Amino acid sequence: RAKAAGGNRFELADPEADARAITRHGLTTALPTALDRGEFFIEYQPLVHLGDGSVRGAEALVRWLHPQHGVLSPDRFIPLAEHTGLIVPLGRWVLEQSVRQAREWRDANGGDVLGPLRINVNLSPCQLTHPGLVQDTVEILERTGVTPDALCLEVTESALIGADDDLLKPLRRLAEMGVDIALDDFGTGYSNLANLRRLPVSVLKLDRSFTQSMQQFPADPVDLKIVEGIVSLAHSLDLAVTVEGVETGAQAEQLRILGCDTAQGWYYARPGPPERLHELALVDATG
Ligand code: C2E
Ligand code: MG
Ligand code: MG
Ligand code: MG
Repeated sequence: RAKAAGGNRFELADPEADARAITRHGLTTALPTALDRGEFFIEYQPLVHLGDGSVRGAEALVRWLHPQHGVLSPDRFIPLAEHTGLIVPLGRWVLEQSVRQAREWRDANGGDVLGPLRINVNLSPCQLTHPGLVQDTVEILERTGVTPDALCLEVTESALIGADDDLLKPLRRLAEMGVDIALDDFGTGYSNLANLRRLPVSVLKLDRSFTQSMQQFPADPVDLKIVEGIVSLAHSLDLAVTVEGVETGAQAEQLRILGCDTAQGWYYARPGPPERLHELALVDATG
């Protein structure tokens, strides 16, 4: 917005942009010590089987309880953490906490009642290129006594577009150990579908934009065909399909009919504290 600033001169004024820049600067300064101060915490959002509605696991989503700004969502600080390099220790912390949590859920039920609850953890592209990824993951699993098949690492489609063998190597190692790799936000990038064969992934997480297009019942026939095509391609490549952002029962029903396997979204539960997931899974297991 340009506004008159005396005489015939104009100056650009965007107070919101100024505020954003100041906050970004402030956040960047506060970020390095936030981990040591214990200001991060993790919320868990259930992953629900579309066929029978059972809770199969949860995605770990990090938050920052900032002393001045309150709870900040990852979109506000993950890019800054990537920029400053804090993402590597932060990501390792999230992984350790989440895997530990998965172990606690299991122990709280004598290892049995809930069945194997799985834990999904997001990986940033910077973590992929960090040499310690495989070893850190192995150590965390060993320390916590959680088996690799209980862990799923989510990597965005855009992080793997054009990925060369060096970038894929650590993911291959992890996949060989039995860790699942999910392609997050699938359908937002421009990846060549044939390229999927090359990637060591076992799960496609269909982006929320597809779920949103299932809002009307019946949904737009072209959108239906697209999702149907992706699901059938995924299944023919032995990939499971998870859908994100399910907010209504109608969406869940359409996506179930289209053959999607697992769903996640506010319709089932918002991200919440670990006790909440435990309750949801327990209610589910005991009727
Ligand atoms: P994502 O991995 O695609 O996670 C799904 C996002 O969708 C989460 O946002 C979740 O709260 C939100 N969501 C879930 N259900 C619904 C729904 O029904 N409707 C709508 N509108 N949204 C829904 P959140 O928690 O703000 O996280 C945003 C992104 O931040 C994540 O997207 C992920 O890319 C990143 N992120 C979160 N935690 C971590 C982390 O520990 N490490 C890294 N590297 N990235 C993380
Ligand atoms: Mg994710
Ligand atoms: Mg996602
Ligand atoms: Mg997303």
